[in-house]
Amino acid sequence: MSETIREGGCACGALRYRLRGEPIFVNNCHCRQCQQQTGGTSVVNAFTETENFELLSGELTQHTVKSGSGGPHRIFRCTHCGTAIFSHYPRLGELGLGLRVGTLDEPASLTPDAVVFTAERMPWVTLPDGIPQFEAYYDPARVLPPERFGRLADMVRRREANA
Ligand SMILES: [Zn+2]
Ligand SMILES: [Zn+2]
Repeated sequence: MSETIREGGCACGALRYRLRGEPIFVNNCHCRQCQQQTGGTSVVNAFTETENFELLSGELTQHTVKSGSGGPHRIFRCTHCGTAIFSHYPRLGELGLGLRVGTLDEPASLTPDAVVFTAERMPWVTLPDGIPQFEAYYDPARVLPPERFGRLADMVRRREANA
């Protein structure tokens, strides 16, 4: 079976990357923090193991903000134009990343597994049919297919072993 390869980049074109394999899960998050950080109604992030992300060109600059849990949420942006490419979140640290799906060359190639923090959405936003929705977050063990939940659990174990 050939592995899926996706590519993407920033707005100025200096930064290009490659994403190997399918993400573990894709969230469309409507929380207030995502609204503030993006200036938009929500964000779409694809979560995967960091080793599946390969920088092809350009440079990343790191900006740290507070996550929902209060721990460091580290946003990595193109040094040249500031487009946010991915984030490391406290739970998985550097083992996992949330890639901004809008930076893919073909963002329509990924569909969210879940719409989260719908309770915080801008009141005029219509939510999509056919995608599970949660007022806050969800239990990944219940929502994700076993193979993908296994990849997540494996990262959590690796993270705890290194803590
Ligand atoms: Zn750029
Ligand atoms: Zn959010």
